[in-house]
Amino acid sequence: AASGDIFVRAALDDLLKAENALYRDRRPLAAARAARNAKGGFAGGVPLHWMRDWPQPFPMVIDAAQGNRLRDVDGNEAVDFCLGDTGAMFGHSPAPVMQALRERESRGLTHMLPSADADRVGELLQDRFGLPCWQMAVTASDANRFALRAARAATGRRRILVFDGCYHGTAEDTLVDLVDGKTMARRSLVGQVQDPSLTTVMIPFNDIAALDAELAKGDIACVIAEPVMTNCGMILPQPGFWEHLRAATRKAGTLLLLDETHTISTGPGGYGRTYGVEPDLFVLGKPVAGGVPAAVWGMTQEVNDRLFASRPEDEHGHSGVGTTLAGSTLQLACVRATLEHLMTPETYAAMLAGAERLDAGISGLIARHGLPWHTARVGARLEIVFSPVPVTNAAEARAAADPQVERFLHVALLNRGFLLTPFHNMMLVSPDTSEADIAAFLTAFDAVLALLPREEA
Ligand code: PMP
Repeated sequence: AASGDIFVRAALDDLLKAENALYRDRRPLAAARAARNAKGGFAGGVPLHWMRDWPQPFPMVIDAAQGNRLRDVDGNEAVDFCLGDTGAMFGHSPAPVMQALRERESRGLTHMLPSADADRVGELLQDRFGLPCWQMAVTASDANRFALRAARAATGRRRILVFDGCYHGTAEDTLVDLVDGKTMARRSLVGQVQDPSLTTVMIPFNDIAALDAELAKGDIACVIAEPVMTNCGMILPQPGFWEHLRAATRKAGTLLLLDETHTISTGPGGYGRTYGVEPDLFVLGKPVAGGVPAAVWGMTQEVNDRLFASRPEDEHGHSGVGTTLAGSTLQLACVRATLEHLMTPETYAAMLAGAERLDAGISGLIARHGLPWHTARVGARLEIVFSPVPVTNAAEARAAADPQVERFLHVALLNRGFLLTPFHNMMLVSPDTSEADIAAFLTAFDAVLALLPREEA
């Protein structure tokens, strides 16, 4: 790791053990449950196996969540900077969504027919994200899967292009790694059968030469990308990268699919709308219904027309696009409430102002403690990167990773009342994150940095 040689690793390990012990001592109920459930109903004791992968010794069990506060069954409170890894970016139990849920009482939850909210939601999506034709899905993974299918149907091409370090959910052919310059099935995948390199090519982010070389082959249906990569540390686009990519994809007849599921942190219209990157296809999942499972995907008129023209007239369903609960009255009501009342310029102004304060504070502490780190930020989403300079691709991001330090920061900060997003050092500022929360976090962060055992200079 970039900062590897400045810490006393054995001493850091002892500190981590002490923080883990403190975490355990404060959670007798969750500890007992974890011990019991190792052989219980849910595989590994958790309803989603990712819940075992946090840096803490065992999962805390959540009792209540409101705004940016979590309380676990053992009575511990935390200021939540993870926010369900973005699902709760606009706060837990947000009032407009809870109101919409109450109004479902006599209207049902799902009927596989449009509800009275449908036209309004369609208009809001057009207006907010600038694309004319929309469909709904239940998860961002599904929305990406459907949008990729649309891109292939519309272009009649098979191959797609992704960037090293990407994550677009379980959309199968985005789950690849770049190994010695070759695209391979992602090492962590289970049950993989096909050779993904037949239909997916992976290149480094910000690599214009590699991009141009692939586009020149004339057979790429679609580039799928996050405008800022947020799933391998945080990798910002180099100046001019998006302008080049957009012009080059248009020239090559390749569609651009922007997955704004995380970069919606930029502003109410996402990164593309804020910085003028115009996609042909657009995906947003996670927070779009305030925490209720929903995702939206949009396309240009041309993609829409070619997509549906490619479909036999007399075929019902079974297009490989859509699932039964997509577009339900429940989803529509909650997406409407979120777009109208949560994803507003006012809430974003508060989130962005908070994120700027947090960024300045963290950067100041990194400098004061003389650490070779920096912050990267896309609007209300911030990452602490263990490298003195910005990383420009996934190889650099991986070289900067420091799992031991990361683990220590996460557990030590949680013991002081602050929850970060696992698997990297990501923090989200919600509309409920107050100035006092940020100040308290910075005090804790200062204390935790002071604990890091340093080699003599
Ligand atoms: N796109 C991006 C950019 C993501 O970060 C994620 C999840 N981390 C997804 C898609 C998939 O979301 P979901 O798991 O809700 O399908």
